Amino acid sequence: MRAIVTGANRGIGFEIARQLAERGVEVVATARSPREAEETAGRIGAVPRVLDVTDPASVAALDVEDVDALVNNAGVALDGFDVEVVRRTLAVNVHGVIAVTDAVLPRMVEGGRIVMVSSGSADEASLPAPLRQRFQDPALDRDGLLRLLEEFERKVADGTHGRDGWPSSAYRVSKVGLNALTRILARERPDLRVNAACPGWVRTRMGGPNASRSPAEGADTPVWLALQQGGPTGGFFRDRKPARW
Ligand code: NAP
Repeated sequence: MRAIVTGANRGIGFEIARQLAERGVEVVATARSPREAEETAGRIGAVPRVLDVTDPASVAALDVEDVDALVNNAGVALDGFDVEVVRRTLAVNVHGVIAVTDAVLPRMVEGGRIVMVSSGSADEASLPAPLRQRFQDPALDRDGLLRLLEEFERKVADGTHGRDGWPSSAYRVSKVGLNALTRILARERPDLRVNAACPGWVRTRMGGPNASRSPAEGADTPVWLALQQGGPTGGFFRDRKPARW
């Protein structure tokens, strides 16, 4: 079995890559920095690849065939809130995921798994019900999702996002978007298993030192989803159980 993990050089991504490698999976450990890709791969016995999910040339150079699992782990939670933060957050957490997934999809084996590392900040309380329903609309397709995210960006730019209940959090909206993308991809590709995972609050550079979980605990559900044979698709999981969002 072969798995690609994005952002494998540290935090939850490193642990996902390490746990998969420990289970005998051939892991393609990707990182933005060539040195960190090499170092990470060396530590866990993986194959190094350089990948910046926001760089089309870098994504196009991802030359991995016969992929059993793709774990879209790379993500950012930026400080502050303005339209620039929204753009930079969505560029990694949503558009980067779409770019990498589209590049890998034609090289996935039948029954392959795509795992999105999402967040509890996408849960039920993330958006007011009318907005959440727009992300959860069963008829929502990729274009519709992109339009919703553009609407958020536009309303943040003109200062009106709060009027319609959009939160002042680019991260939150990006992870709700990622959960919606998970459902859309699951519908588009019934031959694959496409699921999202909430790792919990994890002690990484992003989660900080006071978080309740170790990276190993945070990696558990994404690894479980990456290894599943058959099983659910289009879902959002926490602690290996379906979670509401
Ligand atoms: P982290 O320690 O900050 O690691 C983030 C990883 O993403 C790093 O490897 C980073 O690479 C990579 N990355 C950022 N931008 C990238 C880009 N443009 N292209 C490729 N890689 C990029 O964070 P973490 O806590 O492990 O988070 C991993 C995932 O879990 C994220 O999706 C995050 O949203 C999610 N999550 C985390 C928590 C938590 O409590 N920690 C909770 C819920 C969800 P560099 O080293 O090059 O920056």
